Amino acid sequence: MKYESTRGNFEKVTSSEAIQLGMVPKGGLFVPERVPEFSEKEIREMEGEKYREIAHRVLRKFLTNFSGETLGKTIDSSYRENFEAEEVVPTVKLEEGVHLIELWHGPTAAFKDVPLQFMPRLLSRAIERETVVLVATSGDTGKAALEGFKDVKGTRIIVFYPKESVSRMQELQMTTTGGSNTAVVALEGDFDDCQNGVKDVFADWEFQSEFPQRFSSANSINWGRLAPQIVYWITSYLQLSAKGELEVEEEVDIVVPTGNFGDILSAYYARRMGLPVNKLVCASNENRVLADFFRTGTYDANRELKRTSSPAMDILISSNLERFLYHETGRDPERISSWYESLDKDGRFTVDGKTKERMDRVIHGEYATEDETLETISRIYEDHGYPLDPHTAVGVKCFEKYGERVERGKTALIASTANPHKFAPAVMKALSDREWEGREFEALDELKEKTGWPIHRSLRNLKEAEIRHDYTCPRDGIRDIIRKILRN
Ligand SMILES: *Cc1c(COP(=O)(O)O)cnc(C)c1O
Repeated sequence: MKYESTRGNFEKVTSSEAIQLGMVPKGGLFVPERVPEFSEKEIREMEGEKYREIAHRVLRKFLTNFSGETLGKTIDSSYRENFEAEEVVPTVKLEEGVHLIELWHGPTAAFKDVPLQFMPRLLSRAIERETVVLVATSGDTGKAALEGFKDVKGTRIIVFYPKESVSRMQELQMTTTGGSNTAVVALEGDFDDCQNGVKDVFADWEFQSEFPQRFSSANSINWGRLAPQIVYWITSYLQLSAKGELEVEEEVDIVVPTGNFGDILSAYYARRMGLPVNKLVCASNENRVLADFFRTGTYDANRELKRTSSPAMDILISSNLERFLYHETGRDPERISSWYESLDKDGRFTVDGKTKERMDRVIHGEYATEDETLETISRIYEDHGYPLDPHTAVGVKCFEKYGERVERGKTALIASTANPHKFAPAVMKALSDREWEGREFEALDELKEKTGWPIHRSLRNLKEAEIRHDYTCPRDGIRDIIRKILRN
């Protein structure tokens, strides 16, 4: 299976090249030239299989130029011991017909561990020369990528995070990372500045040629990030059917708290592969670019970015939407190129009526305000004794709003994207009606007391851990700091 550019501006490449390149060097993203499918029978056969077995079935369809043995070994070392749950991503029943998929049992307490335990191991088997992995993070990708790439042979990793807009916990998780090949940079700007800066470097071949290394990405613009995420929609569906919560073949709704549109896109691929999914509910916080887009057909990034209690979703340019639109236009690189040129130039574009209609059949966009998010955390804790993190709470609220608009009757799977302890001040604010900002560790202890949930291993010793990284750089200083780090 080959991968092609959403903008039709590059030759087709193998899966291993797509992962090594990260994104299309001239702009655009790699997508599989066709989406492989599972028959109903094949899906039924997977019931009762282990996560690793299902991962193998899914990934070998996409990563075709890796041998079965390589994939098997990589999957094994990624998922055998690094997740605290036997199922890797366990499901939890919130109420009849509503289930959370806990995606955060990996080393850094956010869903990105699932792809980022796998992808660095795979990349290290593919690379021909030293690879510098550049990462833009709104908070969670950074740490998950650092853990994934730490001391992986043949790689170096540089993470850029927006200085003022990650949580203190997220910042400490990143700046205390060990490893001889890691660097962490606080950028004076927001996440979009980090992401645009990194994307510029990928498109700048002259700059790249200053270095003997090759550059790649661990963001969800990289296909290697997305493919492993497809697996958990299938395994969680099968967990529920094994528990008798649904029949194999029964359609479900999937709700995904969304920022860069990566996680929901992987659910879209699972749907295309044959998983019986009715609607994907795209849940946004107050940065509701996507909710507006799915309502109106106009993507308009000309607005202030708001800082919310769900910082991983404080994003105005949702990169992976491009892949979704590529598929929904029936693979039309010309339309995609013109929309994204217009996004570059004017910060907005409008899709045609036919594409809008097709999108409506698959996706429902909603958003939750800050007040709604905190109210949801508090209410769900009262009713069910379950502490939601703010991102997951956005998902739950959007699911409720969706239920008010349409006749629902389908079982819902809601992605739980982070362990609540990771955002303890916001969660405690919701549970206590007091402000905890700036008292992260107190909030952490208080939340543990209140809920009886043990503190996740990645947060436990953070207070005492040594700070190892203190680079900062101005918004337009990404190239200089990369030079400084790589020539060190
Ligand atoms: C990254 C992240 C999201 C958003 O995922 P995307 O793939 O960027 O849409 C949601 N919740 C948490 C906790 C995250 O870390």
